[in-house]
Amino acid sequence: MKKVSVIVPCFNEEETIDLFYKTITSFWKESLSDHELELVLVDDGSKDSTYEKMISLAKADPSVRYGSFSRNFGKEAAMFAGLDLCTGDCAVVIDADLQHPVETIKKMVSKWDEGFEVIEGIKASRGKEARSHGLFAGLFYKIISSLVGFDMQNSSDFKLIDRKVIDVLRSFTEKDTFFRALTFWTGFKSTSVEYEVKDRAAGVSKWSGFSLVKYALRNIIAFTYTPLYLIAFLGIVVIIIGVILGIDAIVTYFMGEAVGGYPSLVILITLSTGAILSSLGIISVYMSKMFNEVKNRPRYIFRDHN
Ligand code: UDP
Ligand code: MG
Repeated sequence: MKKVSVIVPCFNEEETIDLFYKTITSFWKESLSDHELELVLVDDGSKDSTYEKMISLAKADPSVRYGSFSRNFGKEAAMFAGLDLCTGDCAVVIDADLQHPVETIKKMVSKWDEGFEVIEGIKASRGKEARSHGLFAGLFYKIISSLVGFDMQNSSDFKLIDRKVIDVLRSFTEKDTFFRALTFWTGFKSTSVEYEVKDRAAGVSKWSGFSLVKYALRNIIAFTYTPLYLIAFLGIVVIIIGVILGIDAIVTYFMGEAVGGYPSLVILITLSTGAILSSLGIISVYMSKMFNEVKNRPRYIFRDHN
């Protein structure tokens, strides 16, 4: 019997974890009993009783594996920790709050049985919660889709990946990953299934507006060099403006007209200083990312796992 690992990143999910467990196990018995289930719960440094709840679930059910971080390392790290722990022939990554309907896993598994290696969960509609930052999320996905070169608009972290893909992703040494796009990037045989985003079963979203902005910037930088090319482009634009103004200055000089000088000087100085500083800023951001990769610290630290 083929084994499916279900990876669940959990951060302060004490209100949902037991419900999630009940939902997935009863769904499995009813609909997917021809596949073995391995549940991999990753506690992303929760401050509530999520970890204790995981331990009691694992005690009662040998198919439950858990890992608990020493502190909050973020959902990306939690998903990759799940990939490190899991032993299945494929893995499904799913949220703990039941926003991703477990029934969709059946569709994913049957696509996998057909031979697909990456099955993306695509949002058919957005839940109530998503609408509050809908505008920003929409803009972010437009930008990232064009930069990354895939349509990321309705994609999510909810997906099934084959063991081959798991092993490839685990072999990456980079720390700043973007799971959602990396599965496209690997180029394995992929397809997608649609699902309706549900409302959170309990608790609140862990995303604030600011953390979404940080997430967006981080992923743009992790996935594309476009900002660096934009700097080069900006440099060329500034040079062209300089040449035009220079010619203008020479022409007015030979025409014997007095050069007004001051306003154009101010404009030039502020414009080029701004261009230089913002370019330095963008380069620094990439450099700090490189520094981070060079330090090669672990992406997460387990305080405990079974
Ligand atoms: N999550 C996590 N670490 C974090 C934030 C979130 O592991 O730092 C988990 C969270 O427990 C949930 C999933 O990631 O299982 C999605 O988080 P959430 O529901 O808060 O985000 P949203 O659905 O609003 O995108
Ligand atoms: Mg959620």
